[in-house]
Amino acid sequence: MVARKKSVKLLHCPTCGMLVRPKDEDFPFCSDRCRKIDLGKWAMGIYKISSPILDPEVLEDLGGLGSSGDFYEN
Ligand SMILES: [Zn+2]
Repeated sequence: MVARKKSVKLLHCPTCGMLVRPKDEDFPFCSDRCRKIDLGKWAMGIYKISSPILDPEVLEDLGGLGSSGDFYEN
């Protein structure tokens, strides 16, 4: 049964390429798993851009706090 009268839009899941119907709960993804994978890609991209913890100066500041604690102990 091919319902060509109703123009149901089918999109491909951005993660795995499977066909997804707009009615699907996880649209435009085929599943919650694919949605999380795609979100993970975004999160990683954002993390790479900001990457505050990987900043050498920030790491030095954290180390300075640690050594100041030792200073008081002496
Ligand atoms: Zn998928």
